[in-house]
Amino acid sequence: MVKITVIGSSSIDLVVKAHKRPSQGETILGESFKTVPGGKGANQAVAAARLGAEVYMVGCVGDDAFGESILENFKKNDVNTSYMEMIKNIESGTAHITLADGDNSIIVIKGANDYVTPNSIKKALDIIQESDIVLIQQEIPPETVKYVCEVCCQFGVPLILNPAPARKICKEIIEKASYITPNELETSILFEEIDLHAVLLAYPNKLFITEGEKGVRFHDGEREIVVPTFNVTAIDTTGAGDTFNAAFAVALAENKTYEESVRFANRAASLSVTKFGAQGGMPTRREVEDSM
Ligand code: ATP
Repeated sequence: MVKITVIGSSSIDLVVKAHKRPSQGETILGESFKTVPGGKGANQAVAAARLGAEVYMVGCVGDDAFGESILENFKKNDVNTSYMEMIKNIESGTAHITLADGDNSIIVIKGANDYVTPNSIKKALDIIQESDIVLIQQEIPPETVKYVCEVCCQFGVPLILNPAPARKICKEIIEKASYITPNELETSILFEEIDLHAVLLAYPNKLFITEGEKGVRFHDGEREIVVPTFNVTAIDTTGAGDTFNAAFAVALAENKTYEESVRFANRAASLSVTKFGAQGGMPTRREVEDSM
């Protein structure tokens, strides 16, 4: 069993469905309401655990009912929570999602996710050092991402940086991360002034760009490769990127080649889009293997 540490956000999505979006000052009756676990860090941890890895989540929740249910969801999915912190008098991260007019609008409250600081990472250095691979995203403070890059580099532990949501990052982080996995939008923000093919060539076997239903593009040092994804009927693509990153981490930790790892991750991510919800659609190891 490979050991993976995921460092990042965890939150609860509060999803309201309504026939229309209320205008300013208006009150309307909606159609339905549900709460679902989310946050990129939590999603990736759950996905990796379903794919058979031993997963440790490093993050923070608030001391509210949402915090309890986030931790419960980790336990239900066999994600180790020994390195999760509950922050006193702070609310858990939440995303307030309104589905109306065939589209969604979202307000994110970072809450306890803002407390995933370099100091809180210091308490998890032992598990980081013991891990086969570390996975991190950008829903936590930028200085934490930088610190984790430095620590992993120092320990010689491979690190996947999934630079989502999009924000510019310094060259030092790009150099220190072992793998970077932006989608097309994130790529354009990270490397705005440079031609895509030149960027891929500059970061062979490091930069893996996910291109949705087209698959994944990278350079292996000799040529640019596009690994196509699998043809499926997409029902809900929420969490496709999270499933991809988790599966990519699992495959790399198992010493699969880059191309094999991308293929495995494409398979897992393509299965995830055939079901509703981010975590709801994440496949088990068996489901991925049976379908390859
Ligand atoms: P999201 O934000 O929706 O979670 P993302 O924008 O981070 O996703 P994408 O590049 O859209 O990332 O998708 C990640 C991976 O998921 C793709 O590389 C591919 O393997 C798989 N995928 C996404 N959409 C589809 C699709 N329609 N059919 C098959 N596979 C898909």
